[in-house]
Amino acid sequence: QKGQIRVQTENIFPIIKKFLYSDHEIFLRELVSNATDASQKLKTLSGIGEAKGELGDLRIDVVLDTKEKTLSIIDRGIGMTAEEIDKYINQVAFSGAEEFVNKYKDASIIGHFGLGFYSAFMVSDKVDIYSKSYKENTSGVFWSCDGSPEYELYDVDYNERGTRIVLHINEESKEFLEAGRIKGILTKFCKFLPIPIYFKEVGEKEEEGTEEKSINNTNPIWVKKPGDLTKEDYEGFYKELYPFNETPLFWIHLNVDYPFNLTGILYFPKIKQSHEIQKDKIQLYSNQVFVTDEVKDIVPEFLMLLQGVIDSPDIPLNVSRSYLQGDPNVKKINTHITKKVADKLEEIFRTERTSFEEKWESLGLFVKYGMMTDDKFLEKANKFLVMEEAIEKKFYTLEEYKIATEALQKNKDGKNVIIYTTDPIQQDAYIQAANAKGYKVVKMETLVDASFINHMETKWENISFTRVDADIVDNLVDKQEHADSILSKDEEEQLKKLFEFPANALHVTVEIKGLSKETAPVVATRPEFMRRMKDMGAIGGGMA
Ligand code: ADP
Ligand code: MG
Repeated sequence: QKGQIRVQTENIFPIIKKFLYSDHEIFLRELVSNATDASQKLKTLSGIGEAKGELGDLRIDVVLDTKEKTLSIIDRGIGMTAEEIDKYINQVAFSGAEEFVNKYKDASIIGHFGLGFYSAFMVSDKVDIYSKSYKENTSGVFWSCDGSPEYELYDVDYNERGTRIVLHINEESKEFLEAGRIKGILTKFCKFLPIPIYFKEVGEKEEEGTEEKSINNTNPIWVKKPGDLTKEDYEGFYKELYPFNETPLFWIHLNVDYPFNLTGILYFPKIKQSHEIQKDKIQLYSNQVFVTDEVKDIVPEFLMLLQGVIDSPDIPLNVSRSYLQGDPNVKKINTHITKKVADKLEEIFRTERTSFEEKWESLGLFVKYGMMTDDKFLEKANKFLVMEEAIEKKFYTLEEYKIATEALQKNKDGKNVIIYTTDPIQQDAYIQAANAKGYKVVKMETLVDASFINHMETKWENISFTRVDADIVDNLVDKQEHADSILSKDEEEQLKKLFEFPANALHVTVEIKGLSKETAPVVATRPEFMRRMKDMGAIGGGMA
């Protein structure tokens, strides 16, 4: 037998109300989104001549009345006729938004699932709708429902084009009768919606002379063309997102329309070496409505420290929009972002190398982490990864370093050896000694460097890393003659004794070098094996 599943409204209604959304506060996002859609639709219809007359001042008002215990959302959009209410509101899960998008190819519409409106019942005992369609010769209508499957619908004298939704807030949801709470929700979800939103509390005296201020920025810069924006625009927008942060290092304006739509701006923040946990995360929007700041999956992990916004109507969201559904699109978006970031870094490296190097302290962290976790990124980053030489303070790319050290820094397997320091101050004596031999010692002193080195030894063929204080540094090329010591043999022996006692205890070898003015007179080396053991924690304590 084949047949059709039937739904019993009495039973399904409470489920929708209670369980559709786990977060009750999103009712406001849904209703303001509907008000925004209604306004955008009117703009679209007016643009193609289907709606006659003045558009007027398209705005959304959210009005709190604590005495009446109501919260109203008022728009001046297309409104609804009685037939439309019957079609769009009385039919649960019928989305007028989707219908409109299909008909007018209007990609700016937010609605999607045809369920958002009913989230009003999560917080209300009763919901009233007053509406007047933009269509000529239509009457105002009134609809009311107390959350049971019965409703009232009749014509009323409501003459303002648009819709007023009145929520009679229920006892358990009293929190939504607090002005601060409502303002907080509006700023969280609606900060960048394209229609101005005003919040007002009935009975609150407005201060004389203060200008009415919308809670949102209707034209955030990520929807604009990169060519029309200045450095100040980008930095100003960053401040708007994160008022207390330092100016970011740079940014990437994402603008994709194939094979998916995605816009956004990613900022590279200044990262302090202390590696503090970042609380200002990338925010995900869908048609300018805030969705979440859990962008895992969409943004590759190594870019999770970036900040800014990503807006895509094509990101597959579930009904509550609170999380992303596993979807091949998400993987594509992720790959695209990685590519964009790599391209941008390469461009900055090529065109503004000095400024790139100045930012390396922060940038290096992303780049190295990216190289370790993403092979596509690694491939591109090989060209712009730089290493800072400890004495000259000059930055070398891998290729440049290889060329500069070709003659001296090869091990017996013929591999190029990168000599590095993990601590330029403590290891200064070694650095000086290596430098005197003509070696180039690069800094690898940040948190990621130890794993980076391990990883790159497997990824970079023909490259081997050696720490500057490892004994094999001396074996790279034939030992060079030391300058004659200015100490007598006796003096050297005395000096040696001074160092030998503590040195023996630490398994290091002491060698008294010719004391000249340029190099350190004493060099204590620890066998590479001992050093690695210590790094692994097998041997405690010790000198550097
Ligand atoms: P969706 O927005 O996903 O389509 P909703 O349940 O939020 O679903 O809304 C259902 C439909 O009701 C909308 O698509 C729209 O046609 C209509 N509607 C809701 N709110 C308004 C409003 N403020 N003005 C005009 N139409 C509205
Ligand atoms: Mg909706």
